Formats: sequence, C-alpha cells, structure tokens
Amino acid sequence: MRRPNALQLFRAGMLALVLASTALGAMTLTGAFEQRARANASLEELATFSLAFDAAVAIAEERRPLETALSNTRNTDGLATDLIATSRAHSDAALLRFEHRAKATGLDQQLNFNFLRMRLKAERARVDSLLSMPLTARPVGLQVSIVRGMSSISETIAPMIVAVCRRVEKADPNLGGKVGVVWLLASMYESALRLPSEVVPYLATGAILSTDAQMQAQRITQRIRSLWDVGEPQLGFSRDEADIGQLIARIQGDYLNRGLPYLTRQVELNSYRVWKATPSAAQILEVYQGTADSIAELRDVYLAKMVEKARAHDQEALVRMIMSFAMTLLILLGLPLLVWSALRQILRPLLDFRDQILAVSERREVETKPYTGSVPQVQSLFQALQTLRERERERIVADTQRAALSERLRLLSVTDELTGLLNRRGFDAARQSGPPSHLAQSTKLALVTLDIDHFKAVNDTFGHKSGDLVLQAISRVLDTEVGLNGLVGRYGGEEFVVLLWHGELFETQMLTERLRARIEATDVAIGDGLKPIRVTASFGIAFSTRDELDWNSLHQYSDEALYAAKQAGRNRVRITNRIVSTWSDRAPRTSTINPLNAKRWSGA
Ligand code: GH3
Ligand code: MG
Ligand code: MG
Repeated sequence: MRRPNALQLFRAGMLALVLASTALGAMTLTGAFEQRARANASLEELATFSLAFDAAVAIAEERRPLETALSNTRNTDGLATDLIATSRAHSDAALLRFEHRAKATGLDQQLNFNFLRMRLKAERARVDSLLSMPLTARPVGLQVSIVRGMSSISETIAPMIVAVCRRVEKADPNLGGKVGVVWLLASMYESALRLPSEVVPYLATGAILSTDAQMQAQRITQRIRSLWDVGEPQLGFSRDEADIGQLIARIQGDYLNRGLPYLTRQVELNSYRVWKATPSAAQILEVYQGTADSIAELRDVYLAKMVEKARAHDQEALVRMIMSFAMTLLILLGLPLLVWSALRQILRPLLDFRDQILAVSERREVETKPYTGSVPQVQSLFQALQTLRERERERIVADTQRAALSERLRLLSVTDELTGLLNRRGFDAARQSGPPSHLAQSTKLALVTLDIDHFKAVNDTFGHKSGDLVLQAISRVLDTEVGLNGLVGRYGGEEFVVLLWHGELFETQMLTERLRARIEATDVAIGDGLKPIRVTASFGIAFSTRDELDWNSLHQYSDEALYAAKQAGRNRVRITNRIVSTWSDRAPRTSTINPLNAKRWSGA
C-alpha cells in the first residue's frame, strides 16, 4: 500500500478538524436553541399563569365591595352597587382574557369556563337579590350563605389555576416552585378576605356568632397561619431583596401579629358580649383589611419579579443563542480559511522547498518557484535556498573549469610540444586503450618506425631552428596520411612511430611507401630568402596480432628493420623477418620487394 504524502495527511486532518468543529458548532447551536426555546416556552406559560391568576384575584376581590355593603349599617346600597358593578366588570374582563389565552394555548380543553360562568352568574344573582332587600330585612344566615357562595367560586377556579401551574412546572421545574409560592400567597390572601366574610354579617347586625361561624372563623385563621408557615420558607432568594423583605416583615408584624389577632379578638368580644361598645363592623373591616393588603402586595411583587427574572433569562438565552450562532459561523468560515492559508503559505511551499533542495543536492535542474507567501520564517528558508543555489552554481562553474584545466594538463602531458603529435607517454597510453570503434574488429597490427636521414647534418648546416621546422613538416605529413587509421607518435628526437590498427601487409606497405615518397617530396621552408630544404627518412615495419601483442618485441623488430633500411642506404622501407606472433606465420620472413618501387624495397 502506498503511504499517503504529507499534503494528503494534512488535507485529511484538516477535513476531520472542520467536520469536528462543524459537529461541535451544531451541537452548541442546538443546545443554545433548545435553551432559548425552553426559556421562551416558560415565559409563555408564565404569561398564561398571570392571566389565570388575574382572573382568580379579580373574582375573589368581587367580595370586597360586597362585604363593605354588608358591613354598613346605613343604607348606602347605591354606592355599593356601583362598586360591585365595577368589580364585576373587572373580573369579567380578566376572565375573558384568561379564556382567550386558554383557547390560544389549547388549555381550554382542560378548563370548564362555562361552568365557572354559570356559577358566577348564579351567585351574583343571589347577591343582587340580597342587596335588593331593605337593610334590616336581610337575614344573617342568608348573608353568610351568599358570602360563602361567592367564596366557593374561588374554589371553582382553583383547579384551573393548578392546571396552569402544572404547565408552568412542565416548561421549567424551577418556575413551578415559584408559581406555587405565588399561589400559596394568593390562597392566603383569599382566606384572609374570607375570614371577615364569615363574621361581618354577625358583627354588622349585632347578632351573636353562631357556633358554625365561630368554627369556620377558627378554621380559616388556622389555614391562614399554616399557609404562611408553608409559604414563607419557600420565598427563597427573593427574601434578600429589600421590597420583599419589607413586605414579609409587614405581613408578620401588621397582619399576623396585629390585624389577625385584632379581628379574632373582636369576634371573641362579640361572642361573649362582654363589651357593648365594640367598633362598628365597617371600622373593624377597615382596620383588618388594611393589614391584609400586604399579603396581596407580596403576592403581586413576587409574581412581577418572577416574570421579570424569566424575561431576563429568556433574553440571556437569546443572547447566548446569537453568540453561539456567531461563534459557529466564525469557526466554520474561519477554519477553512485558516487551513487554506496554511496550505498555501506554509505546507505547499515547504514541499516545494524540499523538492528544490533535493534537486540542488543532486545537481538537477528544476523549475525554481519563488515563495509568494508572507510567513517570515518560510521566506527566510527560501532566501537560504537561493543562497545555496548560487553557491552551488559557483561550485559547478569552478568544477567545470577545474575539469577543463586538468584535461589541458593531461593533453599537455601526452602531447609533444614541438610537433603536436603524441609524445612517448601519450602514444603508449593511446595504443593501450585500443583502436577506435570502427577498427575494433581488426585483429592485426603493424608498427612502422621511421627516422630522418642525416638529420644531424640538417641541424649542423641550417641550424637547430630549421631542424625544428623539418620535424614539424614531417609530423604534418605523417598525421595527414595516417589519419584515423592509426596512431602517430614522436618517440625520440627525430624518430617517429606509426601504429596501424588494420595492419594488413599490402596496405601497410602501400601506406609506408606513400609516407616515404611524400617526405622525400616535401619542401621545408626555412626562412625568407632561403631555399627550402628536403629530407628523406628510413622506415622499418613489424607486424603482430592484437591478442598476442608484445610491444617491446614489436618495437624492437621494427627498429631492427629500420636499422636495416639505414644500412641499405637510407630513404627506403624494410620489413622485418622476425616472428612476433602467430600472425607472422603469414607474414613475410624476408624483406619484401615493393612492386611499385623495386629499388627501394629490394634492400642493399
Ligand atoms: P642517420 O641518418 O644515421 O640517422 O644520421 P643522423 O644524423 O640523422 O643521426 P644522429 O643520431 O647522429 O643525429 C640525430 C640528431 O637529431 C642529433 C640531434 O641534434 C638531432 N635532434 C634531436 N632532437 C632534435 C630536435 O628536437 N630539434 C633539432 N633541430 N634537432 C634534434
Ligand atoms: Mg636520423
Ligand atoms: Mg635517430
């Protein structure tokens, strides 16, 4: 399996990162959205509760003007009727608002508004019939029964409130407890209003409280105190708030310790009739109700604060949702941008950098890509690469120059300075490295050794410089004639060697004769105004095969043949009859006569 490269790994890693942050963002966003939806839902339920609660309070408070009317000894029914009408309109409106809300939220299925209305209508009719009676003709029993009837409406609406409370609790368990506290306070206030309802008819008419009324009053008082005992500890954190703290103190100080005992005492006084000059029912009611108001106030303040807190919570959830959304968006947009930029600015340039470094180290030519990003560290890497590349270029130039120099030195060491031919070392090296490729098949070798005749005399007669010119002219002749067929070298002062790679007897003879003839015919100019001079040379030839070549012997035999040519009178060619190898089985054993030039080949 092929290993993934750095770029692929990086891409895969970044993709995973983007996916992970997308998932994380989605989770955060969903969480924030749900929180906001919950906060919103609980706020909605709380609004429903407020409406239901308003309706319940308005209906309970319908009793207040009724009690005022009943407590009066003078006939002020006209005023009472107005107050009653106002409070009825108020509670009807509140009930209608609650009903609309219930319909909108689907609560109306659980709540029986028709029954409530029917009851309310019936009780109101009873109130009206009572109030239509003259003041003195109102039996206490009937009054009590009517007041209780009105109170029982509050009991009819109570299950409705409980249903709404349940909804609030379902939306937010935290709020459920607080709504319960509000409802406890409302019940307490309801009871606080109901207590005088039970006794006022007696107090107003001066009738002695029935045992039933006394028991009822005791029960209600008990209920009020126990509701406070249960509700007060549940007020929780709100106790720390100044206005709530004050209201708690007022309920305890004014109502529970003053208003309630005051009413109880008045009832007791009435029961035993120990004191004739009791305050009027209206006065008692006024004092008592004044102290009970703090319960309603606490109830309302507590509810208002709760709604305010829920609203703040909802607002907070909204802000959190917007923040989560913004953060997620930022991550989703920012991360790919970051990844893309890292890829373009760092990773890709680094991979290019690696390729270029490898190319420099291997002296390969690659396309140089300059760094276009803006990361300073990467920039400096590319600058360093540029420096390295320049150094490397200088080194290459220096190496080339060095190679050329050493090649020139090598050439100098193998070349004869005067003639430009191979010197002895060069010739030996060249013959050892074998024939050129086009003569590689040939197995026969011929060595021609030649020496200029009476060269000392040339030097002596025309000077050393002229001798040099002669050497150069003869070298040119040899070089031109032999060409690629063999090697030409200057072996000694005026002695030359010619190695023919394709050393067949006849061709060698022909070539050697041609060399001799051309040397003989060559005019060597030795200076302005001087007659050109001519020289001759003597030649010795020896043969061998390449496989069995013994260079020293071959050279010695050709030298012997050359000596024979000199002996024979110079300016002639001699072929050895010495055997160098098996080749010489086919080679002539004696000097051969050149058919073209019988005299020169014939020897002495
Ligand atoms: P022979 O026919 O027997 O070869 O007679 P020769 O005079 O040619 O032979 P010898 O060996 O006596 O003389 C060779 C001369 O070649 C001696 C030397 O001064 C001369 N010579 C050798 N090298 C050079 C050179 O580089 N330049 C010049 N001008 N003369 C050289
Ligand atoms: Mg000579
Ligand atoms: Mg010589």
